[in-house]
Amino acid sequence: MNYSRLTQRIAGEGSAAWDIHIQALQRRARGEDVTILSVGDPDFDTPAPIVESAVESLRAGHTHYPDMQGKLALRQAIAAQYRELGVSDVVAENVIVLHGAQCGLYAVAQCLLDPEDEVVVPEPTYVTYEAAIKATGARISQVPLSPDDDFRLRLEALEAAITPRTKALMLNSPHNPSGQIIDRATWEGIAELCHRHDLWLVSDEVYADLVFDGEHLCPATLPDMAKRTVVVNSLSKSHAMTGWRLGWVMAPHGLIGHLFNLSLCMLYGCPSFLQDAALEALRRPPAALEEMKAAYRARRDTVCRSLADSSLVSAVCPAAGMFLLVDIRRTGLSAKAFSQALLDDYDVSVLSAEAFGPSGAGFVRLSLTVDEALLIEACRRLLACAERYARPSIDT
Ligand code: PMP
Repeated sequence: MNYSRLTQRIAGEGSAAWDIHIQALQRRARGEDVTILSVGDPDFDTPAPIVESAVESLRAGHTHYPDMQGKLALRQAIAAQYRELGVSDVVAENVIVLHGAQCGLYAVAQCLLDPEDEVVVPEPTYVTYEAAIKATGARISQVPLSPDDDFRLRLEALEAAITPRTKALMLNSPHNPSGQIIDRATWEGIAELCHRHDLWLVSDEVYADLVFDGEHLCPATLPDMAKRTVVVNSLSKSHAMTGWRLGWVMAPHGLIGHLFNLSLCMLYGCPSFLQDAALEALRRPPAALEEMKAAYRARRDTVCRSLADSSLVSAVCPAAGMFLLVDIRRTGLSAKAFSQALLDDYDVSVLSAEAFGPSGAGFVRLSLTVDEALLIEACRRLLACAERYARPSIDT
């Protein structure tokens, strides 16, 4: 039997990237003591008041077909957040509630891109972007982020990738896997590029609430940008709600209409009790959110300190988010081989950053999703692994 060509476009390297993580999960399921630093799933529980509101909503019988664009009160609360950030005129009609940012990215790609289009994406890139874009048949034009520049996005590199076929820029700040944020001057330059080349700007902001140094800027706040900016966000990371699958897209009204049609034929809306919980999360942000953020920051500092004295590996200290890249190039091992050795011999799983793009070669991504004691021990093992496998330097 035959499958559609789409099935080939969505089966890329992206899914193979999780191999190490799957191995780690299997070992843990067999009862082995494995420290899993290979996924961005918060180790915190969803704050209790949010859970309670979902339970209450279920008990109140909100188990029927939902409002398919998203409950008005929830969309109003989301719109109000963007107005507070400075996106003028944004109202509930500019918002659609979807199953997580991932669903948002896929749906946006479907409604913006055609096979003749190109999308400019910095690389390394979060692994699912490739399939989400390729599903549309559009071409991805990658902008390498240089390790020598700590993977910061440079305007000139972005500009150089734009061609007459470019339809959109797809940017992620704070960035997974590097944790870098795009600064205001760069955003202003990006806005100018979007105006000059008449581009859509898709802004994936799932780590926006986890900024430690500097400031997150939503590009829709820049002059005249709201009409061409599509913001994708969710409660997954900020509220420790990855399993709830609750996110949204904030965009010009016309695009929301198309996303609504797509959602109708695929999802038929997001369960009401999840939306009620999301509304609670936004209306009364629990104190736990600040505590989680402080914990990620402390963990980041701990890892950077633990690796600081090594002559073999070094951390790229992230400004935001829940990940940290470690440069293992001096060991002489590929990131994939290093990750495998670290799991096999030291029971710690990290991801090869090369799975995020060729510029990630020689870096592994470590998640800040275990407590500090475990992170210190994981760093000790990572250093031991580097020592053990490092090729002797030619001059010694
Ligand atoms: N974008 C980025 C950059 C991510 O890291 C993730 C999740 N790891 C997502 C989108 C998807 O998030 P969600 O759980 O909201 O679907």
